Amino acid sequence: MKCYRKRMHGFTLIELLVVISIISMLAGQLLPALSSAREKGREANCINNLHQIGIAIEIYYQDYSDYPPWTSCLYKSYLGTPKIFLCLTDLFHGEKGSGHNAYPEANDIPVAKMNPAPTDPSDPGLFQRNPEIEACSYIYEFNPCVCTWFTSSATAETILAADTNGDGKVTWKEAKMYQSNHGYGGKVPIVRCFWHYNNHNGKVLNLSFRNYNVYTSGPEWESTSY
Ligand SMILES: [Zn+2]
Repeated sequence: MKCYRKRMHGFTLIELLVVISIISMLAGQLLPALSSAREKGREANCINNLHQIGIAIEIYYQDYSDYPPWTSCLYKSYLGTPKIFLCLTDLFHGEKGSGHNAYPEANDIPVAKMNPAPTDPSDPGLFQRNPEIEACSYIYEFNPCVCTWFTSSATAETILAADTNGDGKVTWKEAKMYQSNHGYGGKVPIVRCFWHYNNHNGKVLNLSFRNYNVYTSGPEWESTSY
């Protein structure tokens, strides 16, 4: 009788192992689903940030008849909290900028924090940022820095047409305005988040110029449909 009671209340080692292996199998199947659900949540937060930045840019435009030099300049009058500049998928919390190593000058973070360093650290466009914002996960496409990729790939005629203020330089903003007026319209992104692509091999989130829709694309938005 004593022996029977013991059998009823305990597990054998084999039973325990079977239960553990079943639990770990189920957990293994659930974890990727949970992690992708969490990323969906972070993505929704990022889309919300981009929408708020879009609204702030539009109100700024109505006040100044121009776009802000940097998104950080929207703080504090147009965007009340520094959190809006941070994407939750960005594991560095905006400390490393947009995470797009090719264009450090388009990062809205202090010059000292930029790694790699900007191509031209004396570019006056770099110093028009709001120093109160020390971290930003996003790339700002309408920034006042000289756009080296545009000047190195465009013809002399195109460069002349894009240089609207005639100072002999084409800034990112001038390059983007030129693209918008020559075939790309509202598809040109004004703000972009590369962190979903970098950390989850997903898509880049883009806030489109003029209508402020958020759309996804590959890193080269020109060649992807949306
Ligand atoms: Zn994001």
